Amino acid sequence: MERNLLDNKIEYLKGVGPKRAELLNKELDIYTFGDLLFHFPFRYIDKSQVHKISEINSDQVYYQLIGKVTQMQSHGKQRVTRISANFTDESGSIELVWFKGLKWIKTRFEPDKKYVLFGKASVFNNQFNFVHPDIEDYQPDVIPVGESLEGVYSTTEKLKNNGLGSKQLAKLIKNLLSQLSQTIPENLPKSMLEKHRLMGRNQALHQIHLPRNQKDIQAATLRLKFEEYFFMQLNMLLRKRKREAFSKGVVFQKVGNLVNLFYKHYLPFSLTNAQKKVIREIRHDLGSGHQMNRLLQGDVGSGKTIVALMAMLIALDNGYQAALMAPTEILAVQHYHSLKELLSDMPVKIALLTGSTKARDRKPIHESLEDGSLQIIIGTHALIEEKVKFKHLALTIIDEQHRFGVAQRARFWEKTTTPPHMLVMTATPIPRTLAMTQYGDLDISVIDELPPGRKPVKTIHLYHSQRLRLISFMKKQIAEGRQIYIVYPLIKESEKLDLIYLQEGYESLLRDFPEPHYRICVVHGQMKAEDKEFEMQRFVKGQAHIMVATTVIEVGVNIPNASVMVIEHADRFGLSQLHQLRGRVGRGADQSYCILMTDFKLSADGRKRMSTMVRTTDGFEIAAVDLELRGPGETQGTRQSGPVGLKIGNLIKDEKLIKHVRAVVNQMLDDDPHLLKPENQNTKAFFISQFRQSFDWGQIG
Ligand code: ADP
Ligand code: MG
Repeated sequence: MERNLLDNKIEYLKGVGPKRAELLNKELDIYTFGDLLFHFPFRYIDKSQVHKISEINSDQVYYQLIGKVTQMQSHGKQRVTRISANFTDESGSIELVWFKGLKWIKTRFEPDKKYVLFGKASVFNNQFNFVHPDIEDYQPDVIPVGESLEGVYSTTEKLKNNGLGSKQLAKLIKNLLSQLSQTIPENLPKSMLEKHRLMGRNQALHQIHLPRNQKDIQAATLRLKFEEYFFMQLNMLLRKRKREAFSKGVVFQKVGNLVNLFYKHYLPFSLTNAQKKVIREIRHDLGSGHQMNRLLQGDVGSGKTIVALMAMLIALDNGYQAALMAPTEILAVQHYHSLKELLSDMPVKIALLTGSTKARDRKPIHESLEDGSLQIIIGTHALIEEKVKFKHLALTIIDEQHRFGVAQRARFWEKTTTPPHMLVMTATPIPRTLAMTQYGDLDISVIDELPPGRKPVKTIHLYHSQRLRLISFMKKQIAEGRQIYIVYPLIKESEKLDLIYLQEGYESLLRDFPEPHYRICVVHGQMKAEDKEFEMQRFVKGQAHIMVATTVIEVGVNIPNASVMVIEHADRFGLSQLHQLRGRVGRGADQSYCILMTDFKLSADGRKRMSTMVRTTDGFEIAAVDLELRGPGETQGTRQSGPVGLKIGNLIKDEKLIKHVRAVVNQMLDDDPHLLKPENQNTKAFFISQFRQSFDWGQIG
């Protein structure tokens, strides 16, 4: 049967075999015939068009040229490191450059022969050139071939070395398609295809690999994107509907004494409208009778903590307990201190539980959680350990969500008979499209307003060669009473080296900022918790002027007097990390600064990240650029799937389509909630086989 053929192991495809199969598994996640079929071209070579050299007018665009290779030259001192040549047609001439395979290149071309060149134009020294273009012998009867497009497939260095470059992948796929004797089964209802003018699945899968023209590609792409988003949304929306139908959720009926007392007497500032709006949304959820599952998005410094506190007080007023979980010890401690202070005159019992809580302190915490006398617990993963039991936990708040998986969230559910309300807080701005895909099963609240009086952080990009400027700037800031963070990257793969860099940086700072006039503290992930805490406290209390740190301070630390954030090797950080780091400053009344330090030499990507940071402080704009940079790439050797594992979808470009598909899925579920209608059977069977989620939820609720 056809289904079985697609499930066949890739090793059994002609031309693959065990060794290449293993590489395909490892490098491209291709395990079956079907997986290979879903490895789509990331672009197409249009060999129906031949350009003139004089027509080249933009870099990052592919051109096909016909001409001669002349004036080949070798460059390099002791040995040849680069070969250049000219490619010439009747309209002009353009430089070609090679850095690899030089021996072969040297003898490859004959001066009077014509060649076909295909490649991406790039700009160097204000002139166009081609680096490592594809060049083939010119055969007048082969080119141009009329309407014909060739798929280009992403691959990796390792695969290329084992005979699985783009061209070979194309060949394997072509063979596979010709082997499929029957049609690939449809997985969307027929009426849906007709209504939305989508082609069948079988046709789309053929056409995406072997299109005749651009129209073929567009139509096949639309169909396959629709399908991809359809099942993704079905998965999300089904989960959401199930939860709404059968999770009863503790009902918080009243807003009582604690909330009122706090609001009247202890609220240290008036809430922003955005905070008020979000608190209303949360209150509505908590009183609805359904379990709340809400994602609270708010840029760093937007004031999520107070919202969390108000929600917890509502739980307490109804006789329940609340828990707040943070991803790092430092952040948990910070939350504990700030909440304790906010609650200092309130009759509320609150405690901290982390991995480094001493055994003798643990016992009373465990006991008072179990007998219900402890009302609020703040902590790290330590909270989800089995030993921790609650009398009646009804609200769980998770801060900085991207560090916790869904599975960890779910562990809280096991702690009570009725699942607690969940509020997930994140400072990572999530573009709407990503929210619809990645967090489609959660409701979303956004704090889209900063507390009044904040001045936007000024961001400056400096090269390492401009270090003297940095030092004198820092001295001036310190003289004005400010404190400074200096952050170094710390990446698992290069951890040892990174720590050496940090150490060296620290030592050179000691020379520039000698004691006792200046005081510097150091915090990094490899320190013992108590040492870390000691060093942090020196900074918090204003005893140190400068804090040298790795990304441990990435989330949550709140020190209003620290108004300068220096980020070393800034190009090694991703955009969202940079944004988070910058969010550590700009919390007080003073003008704050973020200084990005890099080498002069930067990748195009790195340069874009720096310029984006300098240009804007808008978290959503930054997130959109981030998604664009990390999204489906044009470069060979990178995985196509972006942040949410899409094979063909593109979250930046497809916002409209995703919305549309989401509406289509909702409509289908309204009409046939359990997909019982005959026309939906294909869809249902396919979904169950792919997502292992059942439709079996009717009897409850
Ligand atoms: P985040 O959303 O990053 O967790 P916090 O809750 O830590 O932000 O708040 C950042 C800072 O802003 C804190 O110092 C807090 O006291 C202050 N803050 C929060 N809300 C307001 C407000 N409505 N008015 C003035 N300051 C506020
Ligand atoms: Mg916070």
